Amino acid sequence: MKVLKFGGTSVGKPERMHSIANLIKGNDKKLIVLSAVSGTTNALVAISEALSANDSEKGMKLIDELFKPYFNFVDQLFSTTEAKKNGQKIIDIHYEFVKSFLNKSFGEKETKIILAEGELISTALFQEYLLEIGYKSVLLPALDFMKIDEDNEPVLTHIEDKLNPIIAKHTDAQYFITQGFIARNSNGEIDNLKRGGSDYTASLVGAAIRAEEVQIWTDIDGMHNNDPRIVKNTFPIAALTFDEAAELAYFGAKILHPSTILPAKKYAIPVRLLNTMQPEAKGTVIADQTSDRDIKAIAAKDNLIAIKIKSTRMLLAYGFLRRVFEVFEKYKTPIDMITTSEVAVSVTIDDDKNLINILEELKSFCTVEVDKNQTIVCIVGDFLEDKPGLVKKIFDALKAIPIRMISYGGSKNNVSVLINTQHKNDALNALNEGVF
Ligand code: ASP
Ligand code: MG
Repeated sequence: MKVLKFGGTSVGKPERMHSIANLIKGNDKKLIVLSAVSGTTNALVAISEALSANDSEKGMKLIDELFKPYFNFVDQLFSTTEAKKNGQKIIDIHYEFVKSFLNKSFGEKETKIILAEGELISTALFQEYLLEIGYKSVLLPALDFMKIDEDNEPVLTHIEDKLNPIIAKHTDAQYFITQGFIARNSNGEIDNLKRGGSDYTASLVGAAIRAEEVQIWTDIDGMHNNDPRIVKNTFPIAALTFDEAAELAYFGAKILHPSTILPAKKYAIPVRLLNTMQPEAKGTVIADQTSDRDIKAIAAKDNLIAIKIKSTRMLLAYGFLRRVFEVFEKYKTPIDMITTSEVAVSVTIDDDKNLINILEELKSFCTVEVDKNQTIVCIVGDFLEDKPGLVKKIFDALKAIPIRMISYGGSKNNVSVLINTQHKNDALNALNEGVF
């Protein structure tokens, strides 16, 4: 079975839903994962913020603004009176449900319940549409099988144990529709896989059912070799390994949620990035290996903080790095990039929630210097030692850019440099000219 995930713009209009119904047509069984209609999750975030601030008036206004267009959506999605009526009912139920939170105490738990509404609505509407046009489909509630643990990590064994029997039960269904993004947490409450998490759902369910392939359908033709918003003449990369794709997604390629690769890699399930607007385009395939051995792509990640940590003790002090890392571990703050010298270590983080506490603790045994507004530029490809000249090419291209940190040799897939964000556009364009 294949898993196909469609993002917010792919279900964002009634005619888009019509075209994906067309696109999934075939004889094989498919598991379809949907995002919320584009804009909906953002609107739900805004509603939750208003309700958290006890501003019912604003909350009501935002709820109306979100739901009113859905009635029109439904009208255009369906053609029969009966299906239109069912569609209106779906919207009515969710509209009333969200309104029921007005004038009540509202916190993090309620926010997560509200955020789940987007995917619940899009899947209910799409399923109703498939029924109208006669597809043998069933709606599988993701909250029955998607689960995260205390650390917000998905529990793949749980997903496997729950999902497979559900699918096996529906012997005559051909299309299984489910919600991306949403999951239950360790307390059994409604929770989610963080913004953009529908991709992650797709690869998790793909791994759980050992799918033949996971397809991520968006509105661009695959992962590009550079950021198309900053650099002209970028092109889609035909093939990437799991490791290359993971680095690109983590370091800024917006097309894919960074955690998506892991579950697929575990069972060597190819992930294909495809474009609903151009279904015949090849897109990008992410799999075990690729034939290309060179520089494949460049990505950049902003809003990083660089911290230089200098030991106040003498040279050759052992245990220093351990003490440094323990501070970051204590505050559950991941380190992105790291470089070391004999007496100092520089790290970057992107989560500044606990920055003050981290610095405070570090200062008890080292001196620290902090630089904000940093960008990691990550050059991804196959940097085997027997492939000379690639690194020279990169640094020749970057000769005019001031560089704060360089990381090479940590994995064979990436060379990363840290620069001030003000130089990002120049760096991406210079690399584009120099390395492709
Ligand atoms: N609807 C969620 C979001 O907007 C999840 C997703 O679309 O992947 O972040
Ligand atoms: Mg997305």
